[in-house]
Parts: sequence; C-alpha cells; structure tokens
Amino acid sequence: MELIDTHCHLTFEELASDVDSVVERSRAAGVTSWITVETDTQQNRKAIELAGKFKNMYATVGIHPHEAGNVTAETIVELKKLAQNENVVAIGETGLDFHYDFSKHEDQRRLFARHLKIAAELNLPVIVHCREAFDDTMEILERHGCGVKRAVFHCFGGSAEQAKIVLDYGFYISFTGVVTFKNAEAVREAANIVPLDRLMLETDCPYMSPEPMRKQKINEPAFMTHTAGCLAELKQMHLADFAKAITATSKAFFALPDE
Ligand SMILES: [Zn+2]
Ligand SMILES: [Zn+2]
Repeated sequence: MELIDTHCHLTFEELASDVDSVVERSRAAGVTSWITVETDTQQNRKAIELAGKFKNMYATVGIHPHEAGNVTAETIVELKKLAQNENVVAIGETGLDFHYDFSKHEDQRRLFARHLKIAAELNLPVIVHCREAFDDTMEILERHGCGVKRAVFHCFGGSAEQAKIVLDYGFYISFTGVVTFKNAEAVREAANIVPLDRLMLETDCPYMSPEPMRKQKINEPAFMTHTAGCLAELKQMHLADFAKAITATSKAFFALPDE
C-alpha cells in the first residue's frame, strides 16, 4: 500500500522536532508520500527546505486565513516567489474561516482572491480551507477562480448537499480523521457521494487524530491508515484497491512525478 498524506503540517513544532522518526513510522505504515502544507511566510520557507530533504515529500505555500490581518504587499511578493520553487506543488492553504474569526472577513476575502490569482498565473492547484463560510467560499471561487485548474476542499466537514455543489463545480474533496469520529455521520454521508477520482485523504496533522488514535494528542501521517480503512469500508472496497485509486487521484491533482 502506498498512500499520500495530501495535507500535513510537518514543519509545525509538534512534528518538526522529530520529523525523521515521523517519516519512518509513516513509511512503515504505508503512507509513503507527503504534501506539507503551509500557513505563513516563515513556515513556507521551512517547508520548501524540508521537502528538499525527503524523497516523495512536497511543499505548498500559502497564508492561512487566520493570518489575513498581517499581510502586506511584500508578503504577497514573497509568496509568489516561493511558489515558483521546484518543491512546491500547490498554493494554500487559503480560504475563509468564519468559525475562529481570527481576522476580518474582508481581509480574508481579499487574501483568498490573491491566492487564486497567483495559482492561476503559475498554473498550480489550490488547497481551500473553508470553515463555516461555505457560501462565501463558493462565491469567491466563482468570481476569482476561473483561471484555477484544480482546487480541493480540505478537511471537509460539510453535508452531502454541499459536497455535491463542490463536485458540480469540478472541485476535489479531501477528508481527515474526522470521518472516523462516532458523531460524524453527516461527513460519512458526504464521503459516500464523492467518486474516487475526486477524493483524497489527509491527516491535517498534528491535529485531527482519527479513531482509534483520537486520545493520542499529536496526530501524524502514519495514522492516516485508520482513515483509509474507514473510508474503504464505507465504499465497500478492499483497502488496497481503495488506496490505489485515491493515490492515483492525488498524484494527478498535484501533478506528482511517476517514479
Ligand atoms: Zn485548514
Ligand atoms: Zn491544515
């Protein structure tokens, strides 16, 4: 089995200090490729460096909506420059977070639109973070995303109805360990309607540990096998076949090289 963790934060303190062992445990579990996703200028630089050190590790660059209040013209110039590094495979995470509301909605909207513009210019896919802001996110994608080739709604926590809207737009959907939670019936219903050529998996580690590892505070890529097992069962497939299908989807989405 060769799974790709399409959204992990390997430069975050909880994992970065022990990244060699994290990667080793991940490989042993069958999660053999990683997209380390970034959230601010400092992390963006670290991610590019880290991705250069490990085979099958790639980086993304982006400014999280939480940081939207601190963005200057220079931040955007640097973002665009970093995005052209050979280890960078996507723009993000970007989007809207009206749950935590750490920054003004107006700033979040403007920053999201800027990310979409950069992604279109550089021909890179986009990782969308959307929390309690579904209609606004769709509106911005519609208005500013026409040049964007591929976009994924990461850590999907919406309904089957919302998943259908996302799919109708041609976008992808990625699930975290949340799908394994007992009370996440609605998310499983959503996952049920997502075809395998639009479905990806992620840990979003160090957060979102799947069952039965939920008590373990720090999530890591190795645990993604539990999420894969849960979804394979939901889709009534053998885990190996399920893994093969979504790995092909992830490779195509991020345009990863075939070895
Ligand atoms: Zn996110
Ligand atoms: Zn994330």
